[in-house]
Parts: sequence; C-alpha cells; structure tokens
Amino acid sequence: MAAPVTADDLLTRVDGFLAAHDPAGDRLEFLRARFDAGLAWVHYPVGLGGIGAPRVLQSVVDQRFAAAGAPDNRPRRISIGLGMAAPTVLRHGTAAQRARYLRPLWTGEEVWCQLFSEPGAGSDLAGVATRAVRDGDGWLVDGQKVWTSMAHQARWGILLARTDPAVPKHQGLTYFVCDMHAPGVEVRPLRQATGEAEFNEVFLSGVRLADELRIGAVGEGWAVARTTLMNERVAIGGNALPREGGMIGVLARTWRERPELRTPALHDEVLRLWVRAEALRLTGVRLRQQLAAGEPGPEGSAMKLAFAALTQQISGVEVELLGAEGLRHDGWDATRPEEVDLIGRGATYRWLRAKGNSIEGGTSEILRNIVAERVLGLPAEPRTDTGAAWKDLPR
Ligand SMILES: Cc1cc2nc3c(=O)[nH]c(=O)nc-3n(C[C@H](O)[C@H](O)[C@H](O)COP(=O)(O)OP(=O)(O)OC[C@H]3O[C@@H](n4cnc5c(N)ncnc54)[C@H](O)[C@@H]3O)c2cc1C
Repeated sequence: MAAPVTADDLLTRVDGFLAAHDPAGDRLEFLRARFDAGLAWVHYPVGLGGIGAPRVLQSVVDQRFAAAGAPDNRPRRISIGLGMAAPTVLRHGTAAQRARYLRPLWTGEEVWCQLFSEPGAGSDLAGVATRAVRDGDGWLVDGQKVWTSMAHQARWGILLARTDPAVPKHQGLTYFVCDMHAPGVEVRPLRQATGEAEFNEVFLSGVRLADELRIGAVGEGWAVARTTLMNERVAIGGNALPREGGMIGVLARTWRERPELRTPALHDEVLRLWVRAEALRLTGVRLRQQLAAGEPGPEGSAMKLAFAALTQQISGVEVELLGAEGLRHDGWDATRPEEVDLIGRGATYRWLRAKGNSIEGGTSEILRNIVAERVLGLPAEPRTDTGAAWKDLPR
C-alpha cells in the first residue's frame, strides 16, 4: 500500500507547481493547470482535481497558493457547485459525467444551482411535484422550482424530479443535471428581505434533457439527493475559517476600533459570542477531520444549526452596538449578486441576510429533528405517508 500523502509532500508539489506556472499569468490557464496537477481539492481522485490526499490537508495547499498571490476561483466560489454538486457527481456520477463536469465547476467557468425546493415541497423535499417523463432517448421535464440561488448565473442545475407518481414519495424520484440553457427553462428574480435578488423562481416547461444528464439510476434520486443535502449542511455551516474569521471578526473589529460604542452589558455579550464562535470554529475543524474518514453525517446538521443561531445573534449584537448607524441599510436596489457574501456590506444587510441562515439548507426545526433522531436516538416523528403512493397523498 502506498504511504499516505503528508503536508510536506503537498507543499513540495505546490512549490514545484508554482515554479512552473506563473501566478500572475493567465488566470484561467493557471486554475485549469492547478486542477490537472491534482491540487484543486486534494482529497479527490487522480485525474479529477486531486491526488487522494487526506481532506484535512486542503487548507495547507490553499494557504500556500494564497501566500504566493495565486488566483482562486473567486468570485465564483459558489458553494452549490463546489460544496454540493461536486461531491454528488463524484459519488454517484459516471466516469464520463465526472470528467465532463468537475473541472469547469472547480475553475468557476461553469456555475451550478440547486433545483430542489418547490412551492409545495421544501422541508418535505421528497414530495416534489416537478415531473420528468420519458421522451424517446431522453426526458421531458415540467414543473416549478423556487428559492433557486444564483440560477441567473448558472450553466447547470442539480434537479430532483418525480419519475413515478405511483410509488411512495421517496421511491419515485430521479436526479438530473438540468441544462439551464435548454429551451423551456425560465429564471425569474425573487427579491429578498435584504433588497437584493440572490435567488429566483425557475419555471420548467417541456424542458428536454438527454438521458446522459441523469445522475444515478431511475427511481434512485432520493439516495443521490441525500448526498447533496449532507454536503450542503457542511458547505453552509462548516467552512474552514481562521480565528476571528467570518461574522465574529467583523464584530470584534468594530468593538476594538470604536471604544465609544462599548457598554458593560454588550462587553459580556461580545465576549460570550466570541467564545461560542471559537468553539464552533474548532468543532468545524473536528468535523473536517471526521470527513477525512468518510461521508458527512448528522454532525454536519448540528454544525449548520449552531452556525445559523450564532450568525443571527452576532449580527443582532452588531446592530445594537452601532445604534442608529446600525439601522442604515446600504441599498434596496434588487442587485443580482455575483456571489453571496454573508459578511460583506453593512450591518443591516448582515442582520437581514442572517435570517436566511436558519431556513436555507434545511430549517433549524428540521435539523433539530435530525439531531434528535440520529444523534440523540430519540423516537422518530410519527409518519402518515409511509407506503402510500405519492399521487394519493393529500396536497
Ligand atoms: C437564502 C435562501 C437560499 C435558498 N436557496 C435555495 C436553493 O438554491 N435551492 C433550493 O432548492 N432551495 C433553496 N432554498 C430553499 C430552502 O431550502 C427552503 O426554504 C427550506 O428547505 C424550507 O422549506 P420551505 O420554505 O418550503 O418551508 P416549509 O417546509 O413550508 O416549512 C415552514 C416551517 O415549518 C417548519 N416545519 C416543516 N416541517 C416540519 C417538521 N416535520 N417538524 C418541525 N417543523 C417543521 C419548518 O422548519 C419551517 O419553520 C433557499 C432558502 C433561502 C432562505
């Protein structure tokens, strides 16, 4: 058996790569070459952007590239593609699908969106009504999706659709890659509480998808979607951050730089949140170490749950600290952002946007159910729909 790749091995590879590729040269060429050298996501297999290294070593590589001033895939570091579509394609896709999708996804040449939620199917995702019907050698898709982040930029969408209404809801689903440029795909902006239109409604009317766009077997869509959902929670709640990274960093800086704003009561509050943010960050480190050994489990749900509560509390304290200044919003102009920046812009934006953290990627109520059942071993919620065909369920 080959010896495991170490941090030193990786740094040697990065330094060799940097000697051969000018970080100040063509950005896209540099990123493509980095992928081909297996230094994109190091835990992926050879030929698919990685070298099968332990996942925890990714930050070693990223830091070395950043220190050399190398370009990264900003502003298209959109977590749907990188954090959710990629691990799903890797696990359930065919060799041809992996080879086709992963490289332009990682370089940011192709943005992905997630066509899961529907007006009648959010928390109850297995209830989706969007239909995919066999049409010769492909499929015809009709339905409506909602809250589709970044669909206005997306080249591809991961799509959960119903292919058999006559079986129980979890069994009649199939997972597709939706061609967002196909005729019949209509993307309409939805304005959020922040004012900007980061997400969309997507109408799918007679969209024809080739069978090569199917991921996994017909009727196995729920198993594929579970991979996406598990990774979604890690992507939202388990980002690798330095100490005082993210929203706590913004609050801590304001606290240090604006002594005139401080009050004794807020002093205690800021300290308490700082300690919780640090504990959460370290829990994230542990989670990523566990991930090195396999798939994300329910711990990802717990992280996402804690992350959502914390961002809402931190942004609330920041607004309180800033007083009237904290209530001044910097724009309601329905911007179509190029990337979702949870900590950018002003304090009011952060406070409003953090509300979405406890809804997107599974609501806090649903995540508490997962933690209760799968971590604490409490009895499962009573279900009335087990065994019934989807078409017979009340809607
Ligand atoms: C900023 C943002 C971005 C998003 N981006 C995307 C995206 O890109 N793609 C996509 O597909 N979706 C996206 N979503 C949608 C998101 O995944 C759903 O909003 C979420 O799953 C909740 O579904 P719902 O809105 O239908 O609420 P519902 O399922 O109707 O839930 C309403 C309330 O009832 C509670 N509830 C429901 N069932 C239970 C239960 N069994 N036990 C306890 N409480 C329950 C919920 O927790 C919630 O509080 C996004 C949402 C937001 C806010």
